[in-house]
Amino acid sequence: MARKERKTSRGKLRAAQLDAARHVTVPPSVDVCVIGGGAAGLSSAIEAAERGAKVVVLEQAPTCGRTILATGNGRCNLVNVHLDSSLYNDPRFVEDVTGDSWLNDVRTFFLESGLIWEEESEGRCYPLSRQAASVRNVLLARAQRAQAVLAPARTVRKVKRDGEGFVVSVAEEWEGGGQAALHATCVVVATGGGVSSTCEGLGLESTPFEPMLCPLACEGQRLAELDGRRAQARAILMRNGKEVASQRGEVLFRTYGLSGIAVFNLSRHAQPEDDLVLDLLPTVDLEQARSLTTHMLDGLLDPVIAQSLTAVTNTSTEAVAMAKRLRYSVLGITETERAQVRRGGLRTGQFDPTTLETTAIPGLFACGEALDVDGPCGGYNLAWAWKSGMVAGASAAERSHE
Ligand SMILES: Cc1cc2nc3c(=O)[nH]c(=O)nc-3n(C[C@H](O)[C@H](O)[C@H](O)COP(=O)(O)OP(=O)(O)OC[C@H]3O[C@@H](n4cnc5c(N)ncnc54)[C@H](O)[C@@H]3O)c2cc1C
Repeated sequence: MARKERKTSRGKLRAAQLDAARHVTVPPSVDVCVIGGGAAGLSSAIEAAERGAKVVVLEQAPTCGRTILATGNGRCNLVNVHLDSSLYNDPRFVEDVTGDSWLNDVRTFFLESGLIWEEESEGRCYPLSRQAASVRNVLLARAQRAQAVLAPARTVRKVKRDGEGFVVSVAEEWEGGGQAALHATCVVVATGGGVSSTCEGLGLESTPFEPMLCPLACEGQRLAELDGRRAQARAILMRNGKEVASQRGEVLFRTYGLSGIAVFNLSRHAQPEDDLVLDLLPTVDLEQARSLTTHMLDGLLDPVIAQSLTAVTNTSTEAVAMAKRLRYSVLGITETERAQVRRGGLRTGQFDPTTLETTAIPGLFACGEALDVDGPCGGYNLAWAWKSGMVAGASAAERSHE
């Protein structure tokens, strides 16, 4: 389809979605108002509504669940079987929230939604269909079956304390839309990892958001000619000669530096002036590699990478040594607009980890990336979003019935 046609059809789709959103009636008063209809917002809405709470989900985009569609390159890596709180920036809090049956809880949640997942390499799990739309669709359908009102195209501007509950002010995003307000006994903040003024004025503390899981801009060996090549490498991040972190996995060479999942994960720890050392032959030791490559490296490496290394070395022994220790100097993270996750958000110390309710403002809950929690690539961030959403939704429903 030509670019202009694509733009027109996207415009038409958006107009149709806004029109559908306009016809959704938002009740003037609810038990639980979920702000944000992404991964955490939907799981919390389902848990709350299935416990009998009257729930509305307010989402600024023209449809709910849109963020799920972009995950895992459209396939949605929805969880990892190796869930471990120590992989997150706030291990203690994550452990206290997720408990000891995290993976099983998420599995049951999806089975009850009618979705089966399948494990691929490194414990990553994807829906059987390998389509992120499957994940989004089953969640939207389940939320609707539970009678949660899904109200997209509504941006929450402000949440204000109102007696025992809250007044939530909303801007309607369709042409001619105005301002609206509703009363909620409980509010679940599930606005994800972006700046949101929703909680301003409530006195909650936040850490500024910064992008995580990005490529690294680097200087070093022959990046331009390797642009687009991939290798299964061990990547080691070094600072002042000491290892800071290491990752096994895919590395993608780019003109500006390095990308790929292993690099994304190291970007959580990287600082300018660190060194990033690649072992392009992580499963072969140096001696074995030397004995195998008396003539050429092509049998062990992508031939384009092999040729590039051979061109700057005098012997195959030197080329092997370089493949085992290819050094880059880190300039900083880059392509931050495509960051998979943002560190920062509401400080976790303000929340009871067993309920995700703020200790200072009863009835106010948060979940997902809105909280200052981030994990590595591989299904860990969605796993956090699902489970924290479930905890916040269930607790908000209980609180609203008190
Ligand atoms: C390209 C990409 C690929 C990714 N792939 C994976 C993956 O495969 N596996 C994985 O584990 N993680 C992945 N992640 C990370 C994962 O998507 C997030 O960690 C997860 O979506 C966080 O869930 P959330 O519900 O907290 O936030 P989000 O999913 O971002 O949802 C927040 C929602 O709140 C809405 N919102 C914000 N402010 C307001 C407001 N004021 N009023 C109303 N609505 C509001 C937003 O529009 C959004 O829909 C990926 C991220 C990106 C960007």
